[in-house]
Amino acid sequence: MITILNDNFSQLNDFLNEKTFSKIFILVDENTHEYCLPVLLGNMETEIEFEILEIEAGEEMKNIQTANQLWEILTEMQADRKALVINLGGGVITDMGGFVASTYKRGIQFINIPTTLLSMCDASIGGKTGIDLMHYKNMVGTFTFPEKIFAYPKFLETLPFKELRSGFAEMLKHGLIADKKHWENLISISKLNVESIMPHIQTSMDIKQEVVEKDFHEKNIRKTLNFGHTIGHAIESLCLNQGNPILHGEAVAIGLICEAHLSYLEGLISKDDSKIIIENIQRYYPYIDINDFKDEDIFGLLLNDKKNVDSKINFSLLSGVGSCVFDHQCSQQNITDSINFYRK
Ligand code: NAD
Ligand code: ZN
Repeated sequence: MITILNDNFSQLNDFLNEKTFSKIFILVDENTHEYCLPVLLGNMETEIEFEILEIEAGEEMKNIQTANQLWEILTEMQADRKALVINLGGGVITDMGGFVASTYKRGIQFINIPTTLLSMCDASIGGKTGIDLMHYKNMVGTFTFPEKIFAYPKFLETLPFKELRSGFAEMLKHGLIADKKHWENLISISKLNVESIMPHIQTSMDIKQEVVEKDFHEKNIRKTLNFGHTIGHAIESLCLNQGNPILHGEAVAIGLICEAHLSYLEGLISKDDSKIIIENIQRYYPYIDINDFKDEDIFGLLLNDKKNVDSKINFSLLSGVGSCVFDHQCSQQNITDSINFYRK
């Protein structure tokens, strides 16, 4: 399913030429148009006709209006059931393009070529596609696997540092929930850059892929991937609503800290383990002030989390370094204390 591309993209060309696609639609945003599309087109060798579909960059574009525009363009360009969509971009492009392709004419084929660290290690893998609704993230979507994922880590060379660090939070999460060695390798990195992260990308991709293969529809073990995301998503939404958006991975880093502390408060991990985990995450991520957010606003969002059942907040928490439990319900006091712990 996941292929790391050679410099001449031969595996992609083999894929395109083995199948009989009627037409190819390459979805990009303005940045991947500038930095990644020339590399793709310079290496793509196929007789199949193709069109470029470009949207503006940014999460604000991941909505039904953009989806509608793309469905209309596909219709106007007479995309049939044998058309292929190539999503070349970060998580916004792979979520959006996957959603549009999986619903257009009840589903046409698509492949993901992730160009951010976050989409390489996380968003492009696992078959969750979707768009945001009002100020709720990923409220409408489908579970549809891409035909293939082609990763080309050299795309990361043009990625801004903050975006790289954002994706690194998901890699740290993968280590914490599933692979102690991976976590230890990651925290031994002293300076975050493409070169230092590159050797660890494949392991993170494999962890995500393995978890998803065991539980595609998130009935059990896939829930472990939500570690750090219950509180993280609430903080991400509040920052956005306040007009000071932060990156997904920056919010996840806060969530990882709060939820590692919560794992300790709930008696699941030792104080020493939680301390080491938290100190290491803090090495990479500067403090973000969340003191202005009211507890009731945070709880309002926690209660609206998609993972909840019967109005109870379900957490995925650590039961060790490299292991995770899910559907864990915490005392309200411990949740508040874990958020106050970060505030201090
Ligand atoms: P993004 O797609 O907005 O990309 C971040 C920025 O980097 C954008 O400005 C983009 O234009 C730019 N960019 C992309 N590649 C570049 C490159 N190679 N060089 C220079 N600039 C480049 O954001 P993201 O962080 O990749 O993804 C976040 C999205 O992913 C969110 O919408 C989130 O909900 C979603 N997500 C989905 C899943 C899933 O399982 N489907 C998992 C995690 C996150
Ligand atoms: Zn995430």
